[in-house]
Amino acid sequence: MIKLEHATRVYRLGDERIQALDSVDITIDDGDFVAVMGPSGSGKTTMANVIGGLDRLDSGRVVVDGRDLARYSDSEMSRYRNQHVGFVFQNFNLHAGRSALSNVTLPLIFAKAGRRERTRRAAATLERLGIGDRLNHRPHQLSGGQRQRVAIARAIVNTPSVLIADEPTGNLDSKRGAEIMDLFAELNREGMTLLVITHDAQVAERAGRIVHIQDGRIVRVQDGRTLAA
Ligand code: ADP
Ligand code: MG
Repeated sequence: MIKLEHATRVYRLGDERIQALDSVDITIDDGDFVAVMGPSGSGKTTMANVIGGLDRLDSGRVVVDGRDLARYSDSEMSRYRNQHVGFVFQNFNLHAGRSALSNVTLPLIFAKAGRRERTRRAAATLERLGIGDRLNHRPHQLSGGQRQRVAIARAIVNTPSVLIADEPTGNLDSKRGAEIMDLFAELNREGMTLLVITHDAQVAERAGRIVHIQDGRIVRVQDGRTLAA
């Protein structure tokens, strides 16, 4: 379970103070599928990053399974980012010089799996995501939808308990986007907790809960799947 308690993040640019997160409270239970919607600059990415351990709060807490992330040691934080959460980004963030397979084996190196085991698991994950025939392709040889599948494979290869996706369909057409959301729904049915940030109401409706944020605050919470039905 992940809890934000009065989560506040302030960025300072010269004299300007930007309240990216303003006392946000939210509980994400294991197995939840939560979508976060809000206009550009409302704090969505900041929220994803503090939950994923990529950014820290100025006040308030991120509590994961009862422990405050701020109290993690460096090695606990590395393990949290590598084993507990998976990240998917709008622009895929793949290594351009590496094959699909090599992109997906990378997080397994940090996880200290043996070489053969890494290759086997990465290939199986890419296979599962429907791109088992593209193992040796570089990102530029893949379509946007295929690149995002490689990025998802990389995010889930360590079987994280939480998958955080920041505008994962933002660079895809609506058909490819819907396919990615089908995949996410399947992962969620298998028990993975999902936090998906999106501009797209159709994407958000796939979630069990939609959290709307504005100016760093939660302004509305909706039940997602009942809307889609
Ligand atoms: P969103 O993802 O909803 O577009 P962000 O979380 O990226 O919003 O940003 C929230 C606010 O914080 C914006 O006003 C943005 O300009 C500001 N911000 C985000 N990151 C930084 C940073 N590293 N330095 C300064 N301001 C930032
Ligand atoms: Mg953003």
